[in-house]
Amino acid sequence: MSGIYIHIPFCRQSCIYCNFYFKNGLKGSGELIEALLNEIELRFNEKSFVPSTLYFGGGTPSFVETNQIKRLIDKVKLTCQVDDFEELTLEANPDDMTEEKLKAWREMGVTRLSVGVQSFFDEHLQWMNRAHSGEEAKRALTLAQNMGFELSLDIIFGIPNCDDHQLLKNLEIATSFNIQHISCYGLTLEDNTPWKKLILNKSYVSPDDEQSSRQFVLCMAYLTNKNWEHYEISNYAKPGKLAKHNTSYWQNKTYIGIGPSAHSYDGKTRSWNVADINVYVNAIQSKDIPEEVEFLSDVNRFNEYIMTGLRTQWGIDMNELKQFGLSMEEFNVNLQIGLNKKQLEQVGDKIYLSQTGKLYADAIASSLFIA
Ligand code: SF4
Repeated sequence: MSGIYIHIPFCRQSCIYCNFYFKNGLKGSGELIEALLNEIELRFNEKSFVPSTLYFGGGTPSFVETNQIKRLIDKVKLTCQVDDFEELTLEANPDDMTEEKLKAWREMGVTRLSVGVQSFFDEHLQWMNRAHSGEEAKRALTLAQNMGFELSLDIIFGIPNCDDHQLLKNLEIATSFNIQHISCYGLTLEDNTPWKKLILNKSYVSPDDEQSSRQFVLCMAYLTNKNWEHYEISNYAKPGKLAKHNTSYWQNKTYIGIGPSAHSYDGKTRSWNVADINVYVNAIQSKDIPEEVEFLSDVNRFNEYIMTGLRTQWGIDMNELKQFGLSMEEFNVNLQIGLNKKQLEQVGDKIYLSQTGKLYADAIASSLFIA
């Protein structure tokens, strides 16, 4: 399975925690869409690529005109010679999910919406500077479920003014809709975000690690008790409803990213387009794809397999690791430490995070890296 990701770098306003590449407002969106269409042509006229999934992320793809999304879908189908996708996902914010837009997305073949709900409580949404209200989110989800979209919801835990009771209420409301997928993300403080500046100004509080860990466990317990499959550290699905496009990232499948800041992976190299709309548009107009490419060594690929595999329910497979042909001595010592601390579990040739280990997934994965 291979996928195409298209980055739409425009948002209505800046959420305080966000460090994705985007601009506020729609200025320049016309030129950017033309450049995206041209990048699709530049990439796929040269080499054949048959995508099974198409994913619009951002930024906020739901913010731009529906006809612009349709042109991009049609262009991918025509250039890659595919009639349909196994999954066609569009990231959408509730404030964009009008009946008119939902109908248009449905008609152009969007099968799945990944909806940035984050919380149903207005005090949390306002604190994060989200552009919608809790009621708007409920109205949008009702409309979308009635139109037959597959739905994935993003919920954030660890918001400083969100207590445990409110978090559970968010999960209860989320699962009362006909949704197939939930992503639960911990609020993390990234560099170059409005939140970081607000903390420096002393007008906002810092994240509370203890609250974040406790609420991660609450999400896990609530959803797994209701038979949601916890298949990746931040992701839960109804049986058989795993996110196909994102799962291909975690299972080391190839993908191509289109647009400013989008990443690609072909099994041997990783590349990323420049994160600047003007530089991107100018380069594409000169028929140049403005990307940097990194060749992955066996050590890079070994460590990446550990980082992504350990976060999933499939774990890491010792047989796969041996195929890299590297010395396993350092890995085996660190694996034993993780097993002794009960952060890791071994079943046959497979290694998994324990329930406690899930709280420290990235740190444990890094401890297994080889230099
Ligand atoms: S979180 Fe999403 S909607 Fe908010 S600023 Fe970032 S990309 Fe835009």
